[in-house]
Amino acid sequence: MSAYAVGFSRPDRRSWAQPADQATSWHAVEAHRPADELDGEVELAVCGAIVQIWGTQSWDRVGAGRSACAECRQRTAPALRHAG
Ligand SMILES: [Zn+2]
Repeated sequence: MSAYAVGFSRPDRRSWAQPADQATSWHAVEAHRPADELDGEVELAVCGAIVQIWGTQSWDRVGAGRSACAECRQRTAPALRHAG
């Protein structure tokens, strides 16, 4: 089972990510530790964006929403489908 933490793409870091759509600021980050331990860390999202971990969010909820990064959603789709 894959666990994903939620990362938030901060506007001030946008310059070295892809031109970001502000409506899709949430990204999935492969969690090698519990999300609450990663809270506040700057990590690489599965789509390659640099994001800050938002430990209180869970990707299986955020990833289903419209504000989630489409590429992260696609890459984590098998895990999400499994979670139901
Ligand atoms: Zn992403």
